[in-house]
Amino acid sequence: MIIDGKEISNRIKEEVKREIQEFGYKPRLAILMAGDDESSKVYANSKVKACESVGIEAKVYYFSEKEEDKFFDTLEKLNEDKDTHGIMIEMPLPKGFDVDKVYDTINPYKDVDCISNYNMGRLFAGKPLFVPCTPKAIIHILENTGVDLEGKHAVVIGRSNILGKPVAKLLLDKNCTVTVCHSKTKDLAYHTKQADVLVVAAGKMNLVRGDMVKEGVVLIDAGINVHEGKIYGDADFESIKDKASYITPVPGGVGPVTTAMILKNTLEAFKYAVKSL
Ligand code: NAD
Repeated sequence: MIIDGKEISNRIKEEVKREIQEFGYKPRLAILMAGDDESSKVYANSKVKACESVGIEAKVYYFSEKEEDKFFDTLEKLNEDKDTHGIMIEMPLPKGFDVDKVYDTINPYKDVDCISNYNMGRLFAGKPLFVPCTPKAIIHILENTGVDLEGKHAVVIGRSNILGKPVAKLLLDKNCTVTVCHSKTKDLAYHTKQADVLVVAAGKMNLVRGDMVKEGVVLIDAGINVHEGKIYGDADFESIKDKASYITPVPGGVGPVTTAMILKNTLEAFKYAVKSL
């Protein structure tokens, strides 16, 4: 079955919209981006549109690649600003920007994509303030299939802090037996063939093909690769779709659900702010 990420996303957005209307006050998300990476601009603007569609006010703060000091001044002001509830940093930041300082500076209660060291620690300690948006989307998609995850062998390809590692931890929380593969893994197919649940998050087009998965696999493809102007995932969809019991397409799978989770996490940040009043 092909999973419809847009449909899942729309459902989450409707819930968020309804809750915001009940509050009668608009949460506010600040998006900081530096440099002039075209795809970052596209991502930032699409977040603004998604926010507006549910009643969240979003503002993008642009900085040139020479404005690192101004970037951090603004981040510190937004950390304290009572009318700003969520903060996101559009990655990648320009070369030379101190990314570690970002992770240590962002207010954990506004860190809606869970990038700070503090929030990563809380996530891995099992007491998260926020679950990062793409891993949260992946787990939501899996839950939405109705497949019982307990005892299943889940294989995650990718071990980044924003994606692979948190997904592996969240799958452990679901009582899966988890294998994490990465760029130094030997014989990737040996591992993927054993997966009941396969999460691919490597950023390598056609990394997983039909002959590398078993019949009935649940395949979640988080990869985004642009090739000749089109977007592809990491899995070869055509050769896998008839073997998989569930599969996410790219585009239209994990991406839209991730966007919905940004909105859901912004609403959670807003609730933290309300609680602290
Ligand atoms: P990253 O480059 O930080 O990490 C990639 C990981 O893949 C690394 O851990 C690396 O070891 C592993 N890897 C690379 N080549 C491999 C190979 N040949 N075999 C096995 N493992 C390999 O990337 P990331 O930030 O984790 O993102 C991964 C992908 O997910 C990218 O395509 C990115 O665009 C996409 N992404 C999608 C969303 C979304 O909303 N759908 C959000 C974030 C990232």
